[in-house]
Amino acid sequence: MEQTAAEKITAAEQKPSIYTLQLHELKNWLKDNNEKAFRAEQIFDWLYTKRVTSFDEMTNLSKGLRDSLSANFSLTTLKTIIQQESSDGTIKFLFELHDGYSIETVLMRHDYGNSVCVTTQVGCRIGCTFCASTLGGLKRNLEAGEIVAQVVKVQQALDETNERVSSVVIMGIGEPFDNYDSMLSFLKIINHDKGLNIGARHITVSTSGIIPKIYKFADENMQINFAISLHAPNTEIRSRLMPINRAYKLPDLMDSIRYYINKTGRRVSFEYGLFGGVNDQVEHAEELAKLIKNVKCHVNLIPVNYVPERDYVRTPKDQIFAFEKTLKKHGINVTIRREHGHDIDAACGQLRAKERKEETR
Ligand code: SAH
Repeated sequence: MEQTAAEKITAAEQKPSIYTLQLHELKNWLKDNNEKAFRAEQIFDWLYTKRVTSFDEMTNLSKGLRDSLSANFSLTTLKTIIQQESSDGTIKFLFELHDGYSIETVLMRHDYGNSVCVTTQVGCRIGCTFCASTLGGLKRNLEAGEIVAQVVKVQQALDETNERVSSVVIMGIGEPFDNYDSMLSFLKIINHDKGLNIGARHITVSTSGIIPKIYKFADENMQINFAISLHAPNTEIRSRLMPINRAYKLPDLMDSIRYYINKTGRRVSFEYGLFGGVNDQVEHAEELAKLIKNVKCHVNLIPVNYVPERDYVRTPKDQIFAFEKTLKKHGINVTIRREHGHDIDAACGQLRAKERKEETR
């Protein structure tokens, strides 16, 4: 028999994070504990609007309920180890989890608002050859609450200056589609109007291309932004850069993306990292244009972030522009990613790799 959320929680050794529960799950827990379901909305208000840091501050709940919440759930899901601000306003957080592992979260400031980049796993098992997050493999999945708490923590930091998190990107450490259920709960909680109330169109999830989950995600029909780490114009180069391409092949990946677009009516984004001498020539741009011809999409060119353990080199500026121009010539929507927090190791996995060497070995 399938376990209910509450049973799963009692089974867990560690007190689960209160942020793991969706509103209806919290209602069920309350009912099971002889409390009124409407208390769930009050608790959500304390968690996501008032953003308190202890159950004792939830003063419209009885002392009994507050005690029972704190006996069953944790509200101190993440401990801030490092909070580093860059000259461009980017803030990088290194958080410690209850079992001592650490994760990164980044706040980026854009002219359209503040965006938070969240982590979904401790490490990653996808093994992309250019990526710092995958050094040392996957340690464990994050619980939904550990992902939600990242946004809450950043919002609490912004509360000091009366600013708001306006968008969320699931582009930190880990492969979100390899931790699908927690990712989905996370999306539902931050999107809920009683939760953090971040609009679907202000949320982006990115995958390295786990095809069965792309179909599943298409069927959820959530109106969130969807990005795919493509990084190559053909099978040969993609398999070299991303071993996942051997299991989930490029033509099948493109089919799943077409399915997604048909099903949701939304366009997708392709992330294309430019790795010097590997995939960054004009001929690659021509090939890419053919591959994504007639696919409703946008291409985001990412100048490679230097990772000391990896030996990729950056593409010269004029060549990046030539690549962009070639795509434009074919009528493809394209932008070059602006870089944030260069002076504070803000690219995925870099701070964790540097600070916690033992975890990434
Ligand atoms: N695992 C998901 C989410 C990570 S998003 C995914 O693969 O999509 C982070 C993005 O940055 C991905 O597109 C990833 O491929 C890219 N990336 C990772 N390391 C990089 C590097 N050194 N230089 C440029 N882009 C990199």
